[in-house]
Amino acid sequence: MTFYKIQINKIAIRLSCTLFLLCAVNSVNAQERLRVDYEIMEYMQLKSNDDTASASIGTVGNGTLKHAKLMPYKGKNFIYFDRESYLAGRGFLHGLVRSTVLTTYDSLSRALPHRYFNIMECSNEDGGEMFPHKTHQNGMSIDFMMPLLQNNKPYYGLDTIGAAHYLLNFDDEGKYSRDPSISIDFNLVARKILLISYFARQFGLNVTKVIIKIELKDELFATEYGQLLKASDIYVVQGLSPLINALHDDHFHLDFGFSYTRTPQAENTDATNRVPTE
Ligand SMILES: [Zn+2]
Repeated sequence: MTFYKIQINKIAIRLSCTLFLLCAVNSVNAQERLRVDYEIMEYMQLKSNDDTASASIGTVGNGTLKHAKLMPYKGKNFIYFDRESYLAGRGFLHGLVRSTVLTTYDSLSRALPHRYFNIMECSNEDGGEMFPHKTHQNGMSIDFMMPLLQNNKPYYGLDTIGAAHYLLNFDDEGKYSRDPSISIDFNLVARKILLISYFARQFGLNVTKVIIKIELKDELFATEYGQLLKASDIYVVQGLSPLINALHDDHFHLDFGFSYTRTPQAENTDATNRVPTE
């Protein structure tokens, strides 16, 4: 498959399923998304988390989720990337994954108080299929927007375009295709993955898979934290289908599992599916 065809497929898949999201995003001033409006607040209230432990059933590629917990729309140093996606119920996680991510952001806010992050799609409230993702089915998958740099300073100019962010293209060195002065902050990507993995273990979880465009792994592993990531036992994908590979340049994807769980396996079946998928 040629690179051109991959790009067309990438655009077609995203447009076919998120047209309503894109229309909504385009109609809203991008900066307005940063406001937590009444609709978001009401939604968070409506879906406020019960204290029953979440249960992930099946695998990330074929599963469901019970007693899901909703990610906060916004925190001190993070925001969910797309208002319409959030209100469509795509920001749910297993409670322990949610706790892991929130603890990581809390830690990052102290280590890097002026650095801000974006969470992308998670899972449906009851799990199950969430087109166009092949995984994200049992609350154990999450997409994170790549943190960016321009002239060695944090760059946030592409953070506020909502679902269209999935369509952005970066070259094999992590430079934004439309403006090569903007590039992925690979050291921070690696640092965040390592922190998430550290806190995941405290919650009885582990990161079972990192999905990132294969061509970007060299850049990732070349950084200071990337070398630690490479030396760790965290699995970073070795191969992906051309389409899935092309999609994982603007964001990276993590799958979690229960390798260190205190939770009965009957409720949390194996999520360590390593078949190359999204
Ligand atoms: Zn994903």
